[in-house]
Amino acid sequence: MTLIQDLVGKQDIGHVENGNMISLTKILEEAKKPGSVEYPKNHKPGMKVTKGGSMCANCEYWIKEGNLCNNEYWLKWRNGNAKIPNAADEYCCNWWHAQ
Ligand code: SF4
Repeated sequence: MTLIQDLVGKQDIGHVENGNMISLTKILEEAKKPGSVEYPKNHKPGMKVTKGGSMCANCEYWIKEGNLCNNEYWLKWRNGNAKIPNAADEYCCNWWHAQ
């Protein structure tokens, strides 16, 4: 089910002929709200990875000195702890972005 279908269902907008509509502004407000995320048991938002692919060492948020990360979302997930818990070529997270 798409977000719009979900919102429409919650608002009982099936009766468009009665003038019952949700504004696009309201839909966008709902879309911006944080949602829940589910991961497979063997996956976390940040985790050890095999060498050679996406990794901290080739991420724009990596700070080489001290092996730190300055991505605001990763920091939030880590409760402010900027220290990357593995070698920079063996760790990655959902917020990776190429340098
Ligand atoms: S991959 Fe994630 S943890 Fe590593 S530097 Fe980038 S944002 Fe930070």
